[in-house]
Amino acid sequence: SDVESQKEGVVTEEEWLQKWEMGNIGFHKEQGHPLLQKYLDVLLNGRSGLRIFFPLCGKAVEMKWLADMGHSVVGVEVSEQAVKEFFSEHNLPYCEEPVPEISGAKMFQSTSGNISLYCCSIYDLSSSIVGKFDGVWDRGALVAVNPCDRQRYASLMISLVEKNSSYLLVTVSYDPNKHKGPPFYVPESEVKSLFG
Ligand code: SAH
Repeated sequence: SDVESQKEGVVTEEEWLQKWEMGNIGFHKEQGHPLLQKYLDVLLNGRSGLRIFFPLCGKAVEMKWLADMGHSVVGVEVSEQAVKEFFSEHNLPYCEEPVPEISGAKMFQSTSGNISLYCCSIYDLSSSIVGKFDGVWDRGALVAVNPCDRQRYASLMISLVEKNSSYLLVTVSYDPNKHKGPPFYVPESEVKSLFG
């Protein structure tokens, strides 16, 4: 199949905010993703109290799952609506504070302290701001990134993980000539060249 057809595909931040406003969030899974359950052991590898990162998190319910298991969850999401819906839909009290290093960004943290969601673009983050992670759940993230930004995204993700980390990545397979994305089609060969 021909990945060239999606190379110029772009969804702007403004368009993502509109999707949230209009409720066009078909990507959100209220029941959570079966593949996280299936590969949970690979992510955790017997370890407890991990720091787990959710890039382009939306209001993914898996963040609540992992926090309830005793891990510390950090997410990043451009839509403040999504972040607020996450906390309200799980009845989690939270507080909100500015992020001094990133102008305009806010960090929403559960009162219990184990879920921190940054409301800003992922490209504004760095390990000096959010630290490094032991695990990553990348679902609806690499495949939602504009194809022209994939290299930048992958380099950033690599800079945000510890040496002994596990990175679970979900991609979708389909004929890219028949659908314009997102989710964009990211072939296995490209995953290999991006992440090594
Ligand atoms: N991972 C989530 C959401 C997938 S949809 C899930 O599994 O449900 C992709 C999300 O990324 C949208 O909520 C969109 O608002 C957000 N997003 C898009 N570009 C972003 C960026 N540059 N930085 C942070 N979030 C972004």
